[in-house]
Amino acid sequence: MKIPETPKRFDLWIDGAFTPSTSASYMTRQSPAHDCPVTAIAAGTAADVDRAVASALQTFESGVWANTSGAERSAILYAVAERLIERKQELALLETLESGKPLAQADSEVEWAAGIWKHAAALCRHLYGQSCNTLGASTVSMTLREPIGVVGLITPWNFPLLIASQKVPYALAAGCSAVIKPSELTSATTLILAEILKECGLPDGVLNVVTGYGDPVGQALCEHKDIEMISFTGSTTVGKAIAATAACNLKKVCLELGGKNAMIVMDDADLDAVVDAARLGAFFNMGECCNASSRILVHEGIADQFVERLTAFAKELSVCDPLDETSKLGAIINETQEQKILGYIAAGQKDGATICLGGGKVETEKGRYLEATILDHVPADSATATEEVFGPVLSIVRIKTLDEAISIANRTAYGLSAGIFTNDYNQAMKASRALRAGTVWVNTWLEGHPELSFGGYKQSGLGRELGSKAVEEYTEEKTVLFSLGKRQPWW
Ligand code: NAD
Repeated sequence: MKIPETPKRFDLWIDGAFTPSTSASYMTRQSPAHDCPVTAIAAGTAADVDRAVASALQTFESGVWANTSGAERSAILYAVAERLIERKQELALLETLESGKPLAQADSEVEWAAGIWKHAAALCRHLYGQSCNTLGASTVSMTLREPIGVVGLITPWNFPLLIASQKVPYALAAGCSAVIKPSELTSATTLILAEILKECGLPDGVLNVVTGYGDPVGQALCEHKDIEMISFTGSTTVGKAIAATAACNLKKVCLELGGKNAMIVMDDADLDAVVDAARLGAFFNMGECCNASSRILVHEGIADQFVERLTAFAKELSVCDPLDETSKLGAIINETQEQKILGYIAAGQKDGATICLGGGKVETEKGRYLEATILDHVPADSATATEEVFGPVLSIVRIKTLDEAISIANRTAYGLSAGIFTNDYNQAMKASRALRAGTVWVNTWLEGHPELSFGGYKQSGLGRELGSKAVEEYTEEKTVLFSLGKRQPWW
């Protein structure tokens, strides 16, 4: 796989075609792994958002998409899944160059995304309302699911294509028109996705992409009076600001936000399984993952053995150029994030944690790489153990009982995911019920399927993506009541 000699340039995607931004300027993205420019992305403006929303609204009101049958929509979504696989190499390379993630992983993310498009394609034909036939002889009622309207979709940089694929196909399955704003750091694959949708038959203007910074582009979407719903994935801080802005016309808001996910390890757990899952959970995507198992609450009876085995196992992870097929940890997205991660490692040490592995930068000629880091004896309520680090840093907290572990696990503002490793089904069920998180894994971690809903409790979000109700999120429910026969007078 080669790095392009000149950065690949992308304009905005409005009304079914690439079109320059009114700013006439471009954001150059440097590869975090290679320190060279890889893409030049149009820096959108509020005026561009107006153009894109106008195009989406025109298609919505015309019914060119909203009035198609589920079968027609399904065929297009399914074709997109197949086209994603055909263009997999190109998509994966762009994701790696913009984000720094290992190419082999980016490759499997394209397949994962294609699977989600197929799931949405199936749901197109299964969007049902209800009927009520128990209102008496002269009344019958039904509910209709209707597309909510024009939706604004805002995505982060850590899984660009995958997260776009958790939103776009379900919005389209519902019959909505949309404007999407990808992260300013990783916009390329969302633009290619729009191009693929056109190739597969989506009418022009139904999906538009306005690239650019959070302010002005994301801000303008949240303020726009013709947008009925915002679906956002990103940090909790920005999510709160978006909810406040979207209140201007009482838009519906769906938020997929940060997490500080606790993996509980009891003393009867299968250590081989735990060590493998902990390594994956903490270091997958360099820990830049909302579902990272960034804190492990391990029973003190097995803690020393666990830490020793995990440390030896994590040492084997190769931190290097993400284009190298042996790479398991690639580059860190940008300098701000790198400094934030190093700050949490230093704070953890200050609070009394000990470093078992890593703790600093990997010195390389090019790029920005951090060592896989394991901190032991991290105080349960310290910043490193309760705040989202979003880097390859695993905090180990030792616990004495399951009750203590559950109490610590729930003592954060977040509630995205959690899990337990044990061979005792009573403990597993008790934890599954008590953990305040949208997903609880038992004897596994990071396993997801499009069939299963995903989202957060508390400050990890509002609403759910994926699962059988993913399309419903993008609909309104209308009640229709029929009065039958001769009308009964008011009095
Ligand atoms: P971020 O919140 O900084 O940015 C996300 C998106 O919001 C970007 O496109 C950004 O340009 C845009 N944005 C920024 N300011 C805005 C504003 N004022 N109005 C509208 N849009 C604005 O997040 P990030 O750094 O890109 O991603 C990392 C975060 O995302 C982490 O906190 C992670 O946990 C979270 N995340 C959550 C999930 C999930 O499904 N729960 C998945 C992936 C990432």
